[in-house]
Amino acid sequence: MHYQRSICWLRRDLRLGDHAALAAACASSREVVVIFIFDTTILERLDNRDDRRVTFIARSLAELERKLHARGSALIVRHGDPRVEVPRLASELAAEALFANSDYEPAAIERDAEVSERLEEIGCDFHSCRDQVIYQAGEILTGGGTPYRVYTPFRNAWMRRLESGDDPIHPLIDHAPDLSRLARAEPLAPFHWAWDLKRIGFRESRLWLEPGEDAARRRLDGFMPRVAEYASLRDYPALDGTSGLSVHLRFGTISIRDLVRRTLADGSGGAVVWLGELIWREFCQMLLASFPRVITGAFREEYAGIVWPGSDEHLAAWRDGRTGYPIVDAAMRHFNATGWMHNRLRMIVASFLTKDLLVDYRRGEEYFARYLLDFDLASNNGNWQWAASTGCDAQPYFRIFNPTSQSRKFDADGTFIRNICPELAGFSGRQIHEPALTTPREQLAAGCVIGRDYPAPIVDHGTQRVLALDLFRSM
Ligand SMILES: Cc1cc2nc3c(=O)[nH]c(=O)nc-3n(C[C@H](O)[C@H](O)[C@H](O)COP(=O)(O)OP(=O)(O)OC[C@H]3O[C@@H](n4cnc5c(N)ncnc54)[C@H](O)[C@@H]3O)c2cc1C
Repeated sequence: MHYQRSICWLRRDLRLGDHAALAAACASSREVVVIFIFDTTILERLDNRDDRRVTFIARSLAELERKLHARGSALIVRHGDPRVEVPRLASELAAEALFANSDYEPAAIERDAEVSERLEEIGCDFHSCRDQVIYQAGEILTGGGTPYRVYTPFRNAWMRRLESGDDPIHPLIDHAPDLSRLARAEPLAPFHWAWDLKRIGFRESRLWLEPGEDAARRRLDGFMPRVAEYASLRDYPALDGTSGLSVHLRFGTISIRDLVRRTLADGSGGAVVWLGELIWREFCQMLLASFPRVITGAFREEYAGIVWPGSDEHLAAWRDGRTGYPIVDAAMRHFNATGWMHNRLRMIVASFLTKDLLVDYRRGEEYFARYLLDFDLASNNGNWQWAASTGCDAQPYFRIFNPTSQSRKFDADGTFIRNICPELAGFSGRQIHEPALTTPREQLAAGCVIGRDYPAPIVDHGTQRVLALDLFRSM
């Protein structure tokens, strides 16, 4: 044992199982105290007092508190700036070391550097562990030693590395008996999520999925028997064809190593395709870490100067689901109501905003960032730039989705649209994708007059497509 007492600082890793920092802390310390800080520098920027992510975090913490309590320990939760709160706790607890899982977002890297400096001043070591990804930026490089700029060769190199014998996915042992009893002496009452939400100025929000480590495991267990069908079902928003695990991955209520192990064990064609998506997540993480400039500007620098001519009115129509394109409107209304959107729909609405409405992708990215329950800076930025053709994409800018063909292909009978836009429910499966093309008599029969009960299309796709191509060609 190196240390008498250490701290394990939870951030985007709200679980006890297969947890790199907790396992490392327990392996090298006699006592470990588990802490979480509600970071005021982040919370103060949130618009809504019922932000879904805060509810997800609070309820996941409550589960951790129960688990720690059952082991004779407790979770210490504080509210404040971690740059101040973490060193203060380290002093109060006389901790000799702090263990945390690495966070690769530039703001988090800066925060950790400051915390580490302050801890050093009081003689507390800072240990950063790899947990959120299988391979960190810099570990999967091209033959020339540079970061990959295209996904498929990155995935191939990632797989080769995994199969080469180093074992980054072995399960991490949780040394439970070493968790500190000292935490019980905390003057604070045990963490109670509803009460504590109020204390930090938030309200409970309704969530479409169960938070916490146990729920994440149940979701994974429920998905694995269906993973073989993933490749054929994943693109249909009306079907339950994907895992719904992105929120759990975002908050670390499940371990990425667990997912990769289960996928390799399954070995079906669907599992291979699903693993490819997990590698996409890692590709996005790698891009952000290697090219942090993407946060503010285009990855492809030749498009950095594009002046997107789209209007505020069109942005508002997109945001509120009033574009007259049923698949776009259903996707956005569902998103506004739940904080969730199916991947196929994310691609359709992002392409529509940038290539049909010619609105700057950063405005859509920002809207998603505000309300996505699974918001992740790397994945959101990487995918918005992909959709806008300013990012990493093997296809050039002339890949422009036709929203109506996408709708016919992926919501063929209109089930998804009908569920979300009841005013369109009277149209047939053939009519529902383009209701404005129906006759006045058909509209009366469907109980929906276009222009009165549902908007006419705010733009013409064919015309806008040409404008989008011209915009890119002019660069
Ligand atoms: C414009 C746009 C914005 C997006 N913003 C985010 C975001 O903020 N956070 C986020 O987690 N995902 C984002 N995605 C990726 C993707 O839409 C979601 O990860 C996926 O819909 C989550 O559903 P699932 O968990 O059922 O995924 P599954 O299909 O079950 O995939 C498994 C996991 O793989 C990862 N994954 C899947 N597709 C992608 C992808 N294209 N890029 C990166 N990782 C992927 C996710 O972690 C996902 O949970 C975005 C996609 C687009 C087109």
